[in-house]
Amino acid sequence: MTQEQVRVLVVEDEPNIRELVCLHLRHEGYTCEGAADGQEGLKKAQAERYDLLVLDLMLPGLDGLSLCRAVRNGRLNADVPILMLTAKREEADKVVGLESGADDYLTKPFGVREFVARARALLRRPRVSAAQQEASGGSEVLRSQGIEIDLPRRKVTVFGREVELTDQEFRLLHLLATHPGIVFSREALLSKIWRGDTFVTVRSVDTLVKRLRRRIETDPANPTFVQTVWGVGYKFADA
Ligand code: CA
Repeated sequence: MTQEQVRVLVVEDEPNIRELVCLHLRHEGYTCEGAADGQEGLKKAQAERYDLLVLDLMLPGLDGLSLCRAVRNGRLNADVPILMLTAKREEADKVVGLESGADDYLTKPFGVREFVARARALLRRPRVSAAQQEASGGSEVLRSQGIEIDLPRRKVTVFGREVELTDQEFRLLHLLATHPGIVFSREALLSKIWRGDTFVTVRSVDTLVKRLRRRIETDPANPTFVQTVWGVGYKFADA
């Protein structure tokens, strides 16, 4: 992927921020399109494929969270990395942002260098292309001990019940479940799930594991799927 082909959609109603963000993305060599409200953003995201979406949380018309969910449930950009911008500092809002399917967030006001670094980190992640999804014909489904992971559709069911996972939760589960019994250290998971993002620590891994367990485990306090290996890391249960 050459830099010219990297396409970013910025949905932000404040023209100053939208223009500043686009200016710096173009400076990186990316193609950048702006949308001033949620509806316009959704229209664009439903019409064309992007490599990165930057969404403001508070938008007129359709808010950032609803837009995020709509994009995740859509066809063209279901797997696009999403960076959420929020004016609220409260931790709860950040969690809501991440649990909605966003991959990362930034609290306003943010520094341009930090913004660019986050955007770059998200763009570095490998992404299953629509063509690859098409080619696999949706047959890439992993079934293990009551969990079913449909990679092309990014769908997870636990004992027949569909669970909604964020992109990070999904990638963590997929990584562990495709290597049952193999112990991953926190550092290994950090580098595989966040891929060179320097703004996260090994504690982020524990937090992500906790969130994943709440989604998939019958009793998150006594997990059967994602198990802790004390002093080492985590593993998916052996079949
Ligand atoms: Ca706004």
